[in-house]
Amino acid sequence: MSEMWYSEETESVIERLQTDPFGLKDEEAKTRLEKYGPNELKERKGTSALSILLNQFRDIFVIMLLVATIISFAVAETVDAVTIAAIVILNAVVGFVQEYRSEKAMEAMRKLTAPRARLMRNGQEVMVPAKEVVPGDILLLESGDRVPADSRLIEVVDLRSDEAVLTGESTQVEKRAGIVEENTPVADRKNMVFTATYITYGRGKAVVTSTGMKTEFGKIAEMVQTVKTEETPLKLKLESFAKKLAIIIVAICAVIFVLELTTRSGQLMPSFLTAIALAVSAVPEGLPAVVTISLALGARELAGRNAIIRKLASAETLGATTVICSDKTGTLTKGEMTVRQLFTNGNLVEVTGVGYKAEGKFLQKNKPVDPKEDPNLNMLLGAGAVCTNASYDGEKILGDTTEGALIVAAAKAELTKEELEKKYPRAHEIPFTSERKRMTTVHRISEEKLMTFMKGAPEVILDRCTHLMKDGEEKKLLKKEKEKILKLNEQMASNALRVLGVAYKELSGIKLEDFRELSRVEAVNEQVESNLVFIGLVGMIDPPEKRQKRQIGYVTKQE
Ligand code: ADP
Ligand code: MG
Repeated sequence: MSEMWYSEETESVIERLQTDPFGLKDEEAKTRLEKYGPNELKERKGTSALSILLNQFRDIFVIMLLVATIISFAVAETVDAVTIAAIVILNAVVGFVQEYRSEKAMEAMRKLTAPRARLMRNGQEVMVPAKEVVPGDILLLESGDRVPADSRLIEVVDLRSDEAVLTGESTQVEKRAGIVEENTPVADRKNMVFTATYITYGRGKAVVTSTGMKTEFGKIAEMVQTVKTEETPLKLKLESFAKKLAIIIVAICAVIFVLELTTRSGQLMPSFLTAIALAVSAVPEGLPAVVTISLALGARELAGRNAIIRKLASAETLGATTVICSDKTGTLTKGEMTVRQLFTNGNLVEVTGVGYKAEGKFLQKNKPVDPKEDPNLNMLLGAGAVCTNASYDGEKILGDTTEGALIVAAAKAELTKEELEKKYPRAHEIPFTSERKRMTTVHRISEEKLMTFMKGAPEVILDRCTHLMKDGEEKKLLKKEKEKILKLNEQMASNALRVLGVAYKELSGIKLEDFRELSRVEAVNEQVESNLVFIGLVGMIDPPEKRQKRQIGYVTKQE
């Protein structure tokens, strides 16, 4: 059976799960519970306390120390033997306590799952323990509910959910009941809700498609339990050091043994004891303790700055980090988009100023330019600002920060969104979606003239352009120029800039009334978004969070 419930009509999902919108009958639910098992996260058997303990002795250093202990005992060096044994035991205990605790990760995951579920059974609304939910159950969802099992939505009323536990995305997701393409990644399956996520808004009805360890959350629980933890750089280095050391010690001791043997003319035992004593004293028994203590100090320092680490050795790994990769704006970054570069008319213009203050200069080859005197720059900034839904009060941005950056950049050139909108009132909008990667607005320029502005991913915008704005005039967009712009886009993007393309066109053959006719709106929209005039690129940056820079040694490298 295919698992792509999201790419099927709801009718066929319901049929395939042999259920109906009034819910399962009690007997059927019971049979299914036996067949599919309880809806809960299962612990894999395996890592017993004993195996965790034994693991602590699988370290080459520890083995060296153990050998030294045994030899010390054998040659009656009791003080040495006891000291080394104490270090070995202490080391094992500290390691054991740490690792045994991390095995509790499953428990933490279990806490995230729902205790109860509201279902339809026998045509009636009932509350059952989440454990008893089975595939085919009809789930009722309301804001505040934790989702008990992966389910396909059949009805939604303004439903939104928080899927941070699954996707790490901090913003809520809007849910719909339609079909999603095959092989869509989890985060974009808008017609599904998932175990352990929760409903933040609205309500909905859904049919349960999978439960327990078969759910997306269950798959993560499975992974958490099976991942092989990678050795930290410090451990690897220490290990190779220990190996080299062991070889050197053995070699030197062998040489000493032979020398002793020849000078003492064949007295085997005394020569052997000398060599062994040398070997034992060469083992750096203090090293593991020193390493553990310094790491513990590092971990404490980190804890003081609100960073908790699970394995002590991670303190060193963090210190050795040179690059942090993240696609989460607003977590490692300030969440404060600022326009840095403009490209239009074949020129690159730098924009100065930080944050959301409308203060900054426009520099071309380090010389100030006035955007008001330059028709291309003027158009780029103005179009970028009116084709937005964010708002700006001179200090703060309300709404999307990408859009906010465009409004602030225009304000730096004394083009305020407010005034532009007053002069050119908006008549229509084709909204931005992640799939479309663009947004378009239509404005009234005069009594009978309508103008369109479009902004979005540069490649998407360019594909819809036939012309290019040059010195304030429309010229045909040549293939060569298009390639040049795309190349520049790539360059800007590789410098950590978020780049948007901006275009416009004067509408002809379309009147205001055309947007009101629902039956034609799609065709009209397509017409509005075709054959535009490309104005230029806007590059913006979200600066890294300063505070975090200090906290964990955030290192960035820019060429
Ligand atoms: P992300 O923001 O993580 O890049 P999105 O799905 O939000 O992903 O956006 C997809 C693409 O659409 C972006 O890469 C960008 O080129 C473009 N885009 C983002 N925000 C807007 C917006 N407000 N208006 C127009 N285009 C946008
Ligand atoms: Mg976005």
